[in-house]
Amino acid sequence: MKRIVIAGAGFAGISALKPLGKFTVTAPEYETMIFDKNDYTTMMPSLPDIAAKRIKQNLPKASIRDLLPKRVLFKNEEIERIDFDAQSVSAGSKDYEYDYLLLSAGSVSNFYGFNQHLSRIFVLDSFTEALRIEQEFSKYLENRESYTVIIAGAGFTGIETACVLKAYAETNARTINVVLIEKADRVLGNLPAHISDYLESFMSGLGFRVIKRSTVESFNGNDIALETGEIFKDVFFVWTSGSKRAIEDISGTFTTLPDGRINVTEYLQVPGYKNVFAAGDSAAIKSGDGYLRKAAPFSASSGRAAGKNIMRSLENRPLKKFRPVELGWIIPLYPSSIGHVLGLNIKGRPGMSLHYLTCSYRTHGIKHRAGYFLQALKILVSGGQPRP
Ligand SMILES: Cc1cc2nc3c(=O)[nH]c(=O)nc-3n(C[C@H](O)[C@H](O)[C@H](O)COP(=O)(O)OP(=O)(O)OC[C@H]3O[C@@H](n4cnc5c(N)ncnc54)[C@H](O)[C@@H]3O)c2cc1C
Repeated sequence: MKRIVIAGAGFAGISALKPLGKFTVTAPEYETMIFDKNDYTTMMPSLPDIAAKRIKQNLPKASIRDLLPKRVLFKNEEIERIDFDAQSVSAGSKDYEYDYLLLSAGSVSNFYGFNQHLSRIFVLDSFTEALRIEQEFSKYLENRESYTVIIAGAGFTGIETACVLKAYAETNARTINVVLIEKADRVLGNLPAHISDYLESFMSGLGFRVIKRSTVESFNGNDIALETGEIFKDVFFVWTSGSKRAIEDISGTFTTLPDGRINVTEYLQVPGYKNVFAAGDSAAIKSGDGYLRKAAPFSASSGRAAGKNIMRSLENRPLKKFRPVELGWIIPLYPSSIGHVLGLNIKGRPGMSLHYLTCSYRTHGIKHRAGYFLQALKILVSGGQPRP
């Protein structure tokens, strides 16, 4: 029996299942095995909603078992190690050999070596971490004279997190000080300068302070000191500074970007390994002079394309180049937004509503689709306030 292993059941892995599931039904000599450390797949763009109680807790989670095509095996285990040369994946003290591999395990928070009181720092890279913020932030809002939220990293996730936590605090009749610390000389440096300017003035209008060209020097579990010497006491500290490849321990001969994404060809193959493909946040996919940004639509489409190419390779057919389609982006600012979709600028509640509509489109099952659709309507009608 020949084995195709999919390492990670997020946007990329689940999208690859469709072509590979169909293939294994008609080719009984092959089996497809998908691994995930969780038994559910997560609508990652909804993590800020979970952190700030904006949606029902189960909405972003869909059971992986319910999504499996016939003859696809699910291993609910964490992959510890992959060896491209030995063609094996290690999980739960067992080695699984593969004939084809799709690396689709996404990314996790990157502390870039910062290691002070990590258990007191909050991140937003998984459902459980988002839930931890939800639980701990409501505790933080009890019994204090003042509230200071420090967000390290003013990128997409940092700005979104600042906005949701402010809205949540207001619902609970609390006014919080929000400080974003950004190493670069403008927020969201990968977007055009006028967007950075707009966001900075938007955040200033909300009362946020953005400290640029600065980093966190130390954290003692309660207080933060910046490299400038400025100190913030008794803070709620969220780290959104960057991400790295989720499965770090991979041996083989390959090259990566500084964040660990593995360079792939236009067929999504890892150069030198005809049977190894990577998609989604784990893959460095060339686009023009740079690389595709980490985003749900690119992850889903690259996963599907990689799955199809594995199938073509098994059938000895020529592989097809992956051609990503850029539809645009939206940054949810709860309940406002900013974005650029299909060539049009978009702002305010319509953008936020469109964000939930795309979640409705990308999720699985009627219940989840309806849940996001209702959320899209709620935003338009009332701004969709969080639950206290
Ligand atoms: C807070 C936040 C907000 C975002 N908002 C947006 C947005 O609004 N719009 C947008 O387009 N994109 C957004 N993104 C980015 C988008 O979610 C990612 O680009 C996308 O999820 C990547 O898809 P993926 O399949 O590569 O990885 P993921 O969706 O992360 O899936 C990876 C899967 O692999 C599993 N896994 C990881 N490690 C292991 C292991 N060792 N063993 C077994 N399984 C493992 C995980 O459990 C997970 O199920 C956001 C991301 C975050 C974190």
